[in-house]
Amino acid sequence: MPASNHRPTRILIDSQAIFENIQNEIQRARVGIEIFATVKANAYGHGMIGVAKIARKAGIAGFCVATIDEGIELRKAGFKETILILGITSPEFSNLLIRYNLSVVVATLEWLHEIKNQFYKGFLSKKIKVHLKIDTGMGRIGFRSIADVKEALEIIENSSMFAFSGLCSHFATADDKNDILWIRQNLRFQEIVNILLNKPHFLHTANTASAFWHKDFSGNLIRFGIGMYGLNPSGRTLPEDYPLKPALSLESELVQVKKIAAGESISYGQTWVANEPTWIGTVPIGYADGWLRKMQGFSILVAGEYCEIVGRICMDQLMIRLPKKMNFKEKVTLIGKNGEREITMQDVADHLGTIHYEVACLLGERIPRFFI
Ligand SMILES: *Cc1c(COP(=O)(O)O)cnc(C)c1O
Repeated sequence: MPASNHRPTRILIDSQAIFENIQNEIQRARVGIEIFATVKANAYGHGMIGVAKIARKAGIAGFCVATIDEGIELRKAGFKETILILGITSPEFSNLLIRYNLSVVVATLEWLHEIKNQFYKGFLSKKIKVHLKIDTGMGRIGFRSIADVKEALEIIENSSMFAFSGLCSHFATADDKNDILWIRQNLRFQEIVNILLNKPHFLHTANTASAFWHKDFSGNLIRFGIGMYGLNPSGRTLPEDYPLKPALSLESELVQVKKIAAGESISYGQTWVANEPTWIGTVPIGYADGWLRKMQGFSILVAGEYCEIVGRICMDQLMIRLPKKMNFKEKVTLIGKNGEREITMQDVADHLGTIHYEVACLLGERIPRFFI
């Protein structure tokens, strides 16, 4: 889908904010720890290539993506750093892993066996860089028994197709005050590390939350995601180590301003009826942009004032109640600062009953991203 570049609705990304968040993390990390920028899902909705460029400038050592296609897109854009695919890559695309020099997370013996039986001439000169994933308690992907890890290591060592590049795991409760499971997972990971005769280059377990609140995490690499975008992984629960700078603003403009009479209704289904003469503004963003219908009742900013979204949110447009007559083309802020006030991604998440990660990822491809 092409971005709608000729509509006033836009996402502005504060490049300096991303740069500073990464620099703060690099400076604060233990000596010898490398940072990979997690840019999966279009960099959490921020725009993958633009964010990757800033991250490279800020000094990261590599990238994490979720799918092979995201990795290929980074390579095609000219990135030479290590790229690790965090999700499971279908074995039938092993040739693409070689061609684009992408590292993969491997979670099962079946995967290794299936590759072992393939023939592709690229394997004559190059190896697939594998990071064995250990399921220490997340319950998502990964080897669960020591016997399986040993068997995987044997397959890797006895095949010329694989290079053992990493051992990794993922925490389920790193953003939680209760650290019982976190400690158990960390110990389990160390137990597996201890059976390795040859340690791979990368040992990694930490996402942003572990880097912030569990500084004794195992490994030499942080898979830095949400913190890079200036968002607190715990929402409002745990304090930030250093002031995070949110990078994303979502803006639009009033495309129509009108006064309606008492008794007149707004939008589909007549869910909102004016009880007095009311100024109404129309904003060109809707649920097709990821601004969900549930956002009805939330207030967005125009000329520094909160204006409630009234009536149903449509696919491409929504209406707000204005405190007074406002100008055609007046700036509207849905996320970010406007005048003295600010709407955060967390505010939106609170209204939706979800987390800011989801809010960021929902923002659709139809909205163009501009890096400033
Ligand atoms: C998405 C992801 C990360 C990044 O997590 P943040 O909370 O955004 O820092 C790290 N590791 C894995 C396996 C992930 O899927």
